[in-house]
Amino acid sequence: MNAFEALGLNEQLVQAITDLGFETPTSIQEKAIPVLLSGTTDFIGLAQTGTGKTAAFGFPLLQLIDPAQRHPQALIVCPTRELCLQITNDLDTYKKHSRGLFSEAVYGGASIMMQIRNLKKGVHIVVATPGRLIDLIERKAIDLQKVKYVVLDEADEMLNMGFRDDIDFVLKNTINRESTWLFSATMPPEVRAISRNYMDNPKEVTVGKKNTANVNIDHQYFVAPAQQRYETLKRLIDFNPGMYGIIFTRTKADAQEVSERLAKAGYDIEALHGDLTQQQRDKVMGRFRSKNLQLLIATDVAARGIDVDGVTHVINFELPDDMEVYTHRSGRTARAGKTGICISICHSRETFKIKSLERLTNAQFHKLDIPSGKDVCRKQFFFFMDKLMQADVSQGDYETYLPDLVKKFADVSKEEVLQRVAALEFDHFLKYYENAEDLNRGDIRGDRRPDRRMEGASSSGSRSERSFGKRDSGYTRLFINLGIKDGFYKASFLQFILDESDLKKEVLGKIDMRDMNSWIEIDKADAGKMISAIDGKRYNNRIVRMNEADGGFKRPADEPRKRTFAPKERRSFR
Ligand code: AMP
Repeated sequence: MNAFEALGLNEQLVQAITDLGFETPTSIQEKAIPVLLSGTTDFIGLAQTGTGKTAAFGFPLLQLIDPAQRHPQALIVCPTRELCLQITNDLDTYKKHSRGLFSEAVYGGASIMMQIRNLKKGVHIVVATPGRLIDLIERKAIDLQKVKYVVLDEADEMLNMGFRDDIDFVLKNTINRESTWLFSATMPPEVRAISRNYMDNPKEVTVGKKNTANVNIDHQYFVAPAQQRYETLKRLIDFNPGMYGIIFTRTKADAQEVSERLAKAGYDIEALHGDLTQQQRDKVMGRFRSKNLQLLIATDVAARGIDVDGVTHVINFELPDDMEVYTHRSGRTARAGKTGICISICHSRETFKIKSLERLTNAQFHKLDIPSGKDVCRKQFFFFMDKLMQADVSQGDYETYLPDLVKKFADVSKEEVLQRVAALEFDHFLKYYENAEDLNRGDIRGDRRPDRRMEGASSSGSRSERSFGKRDSGYTRLFINLGIKDGFYKASFLQFILDESDLKKEVLGKIDMRDMNSWIEIDKADAGKMISAIDGKRYNNRIVRMNEADGGFKRPADEPRKRTFAPKERRSFR
């Protein structure tokens, strides 16, 4: 008997699983599927992304749905649009042999009218982000009365993003639900509170140790002072040809600056940040997913919900402030049993954080020396030579030219040909690195760095270095769960937050208001005062939540991205 059949899944679903090539259930699937198939047991799955959790709840849900009842029977709530689309796509694959099952993704940033029209056609499973779901409930476009199963996916992320009230609202309004399934990577007190308030004797399953990083991840760290962070990053990327990676920064400003500098230097990198339109974001993600983009750089907020298979490296440009965030970041690699590397660049004063991370993840972290220029050259050189040996010559009509080539090279030795190929490919690269400084000494001055020599000693180069060193744009960004739907317009909202916090308008930067939430830029020095004055207050019977979003300074949306020709110091990663 097939292992999935043994868990109780029906023939159609097992057929889809076979098509997908899944041979054995993952740990969370083994533990969750038999319990969830009962339909009446509340369930808590402590599992990170990459453990196969979507299938763990997706398959039982599809089996429990009655196709004859054309109304929402299941509701999956998840933090981001990306995750929403991914779950819906996964469900589509899982149900391809099951007839008459319909699911619909509803999320912000897309036409609500279209989503309402699709819901009217009669769907069984609704996959939703909290904000859009509340919108649809308020417009009476979705009926939750007959929802039997509610799945909260990445519950900790949703609470981090300030969706607590929305989740409460959904759970209070699905009065006929027969079971609630909660999935979360971590179990902070707020998630525990949801289970206490809305779940009945839930079966709790943990995959691996609680808050434990995946054992397939090699955790490495490199010590560098702030003004050498960028050069260290660059060298680590060069030392890992073939890297398919995600780089995390603490602030949006850093993400943007690093990506601009690397792109200028010829690296295949894009930044993901809140200033992009949904269309631009989809485009970047599409390129990254299809491996037409080697590197993605993002803040934790912008990268929420991104699950991409095959990521080889996660790089922490800076260590996160919240150590739990490290687990989320590192979990983007080593998915589905594969191995991966999580690299952190940290300051010597931060090495104590590594000790806490070792305790938190129960994994050993390896301190490595920043590779020398020679190490990098050697690595790149052999990577290229391996590619040369693996080149597929079966497709082209190369044999036609062979006799002429043989004649041409009759007096040239194999060694010389190899040397010439290498010179052609590596001239720039070797020159760039031949006198590169030892970054482990930590005393290199910005004006002697090879980066500037290669890219032209423009003033923007030194400005970037200084700002990475200080990492200080002056603003931090606050999230608040109040918005236009609460009856505010910009001026009244400004008055409200300033009156409550007793602060002056001058401390504020840009205000970004949405239906249910808003983001406020504020002088870093005043952020704490505003949060303590507002967070936890009541407004129209709602508890107001305010917290630091990503600490990032929002750049003007219209600032052009520079993409200029740079010396060929990079090789393609594929
Ligand atoms: P998830 O944790 O749901 O994001 O899944 C992570 C990845 O694991 C996805 O690409 C799934 O297609 C894959 N996956 C899920 N279950 C299995 C399985 N039993 N065997 C192999 N791969 C799986």
